[in-house]
Amino acid sequence: MRFADVLGHDAAIERLRRAAATQRLAGAYLLTGPAGVGKRLLADAFAARILCAAPRDDDACGTCAQCTRVAAGTHPELRLLERDEERRDIRIEQIRELSRWLALQPLMAERKVAIVDGAHCLSEPAQNALLKTLEEPPPSAVLLLTTPAAALLLPTVRSRCQRVRLDPLPPESVARVLAARGVAPEQATLLAAEAEGSPGRALASSGDEEVRARDAMVGALRTLRTLDAAALSTLAQDLARGPADGALAAAAAWYRDVLETRLTGDPPRRHPGAVAAVRAAADRSRAECTLRQLELVCDTINALDRNANRILAIETMLLGLRALERDDSPRQGPA
Ligand SMILES: [Zn+2]
Repeated sequence: MRFADVLGHDAAIERLRRAAATQRLAGAYLLTGPAGVGKRLLADAFAARILCAAPRDDDACGTCAQCTRVAAGTHPELRLLERDEERRDIRIEQIRELSRWLALQPLMAERKVAIVDGAHCLSEPAQNALLKTLEEPPPSAVLLLTTPAAALLLPTVRSRCQRVRLDPLPPESVARVLAARGVAPEQATLLAAEAEGSPGRALASSGDEEVRARDAMVGALRTLRTLDAAALSTLAQDLARGPADGALAAAAAWYRDVLETRLTGDPPRRHPGAVAAVRAAADRSRAECTLRQLELVCDTINALDRNANRILAIETMLLGLRALERDDSPRQGPA
């Protein structure tokens, strides 16, 4: 991965290029931005640039012995730390081991780089253990932390990192990423509109299973008022076991379309094939109610990002969405 391979995020890349070119590297960087926006890709590209033996145009060359090892995942001065799949957090033992490793002199390069992907998954004791390294970073060490939001980390940790904020990308850019991965242009435009500026999220929702989960979610939202608790519970379990992120993004996109159609009268941008259904939903609920439903979906997305219990979070959301819809009295004339 090189800077040249990262789509968008020009300002952030320029800043990191300059830091590497002038050898004024901070001991720790905190890359923030929504899930799937490209934080990990940028961290990988920055790590490659730092370790490259023959950088060209302020970017990793991609061909030297260092770059080859980085690409193969075998560079001895590069470590990746992330949450074990079966665990809810990154353990303190993992951080202690990483800190010991960072304190050793690099042998193969000028620097040692550690990427902590999903730093918000660090347990509080793990964050406190990391603090010691952040307070007195070994001169050769560079730590790259990624997280959806800086506020998810302890203030003491985030205040010792240089922040690099990645903003959502425009839909055209997201569609280009999808098209480059072989997604049909029409599907790419649809997914990009739903992805809220996150190519990773759009890519994650382009598979067959993901499409099924999104269809199940949107189908349920269209008939939510009539579904009983047992049906919602079954749906929550199905979604929680599968690709829930895409389904929740689809739910958020649905309510955004309903809200926009309700307020502007325009046809839905994200569901061009469901004009009648979106208009019907817009006609039968007040904007305040739809807005609260959208907030509930976004809160649930955030909760899952923080590793909440998936079934419980999704079932609670579905029940809440239905309660809002049932409580909302039919619209009387223009409102
Ligand atoms: Zn190189």
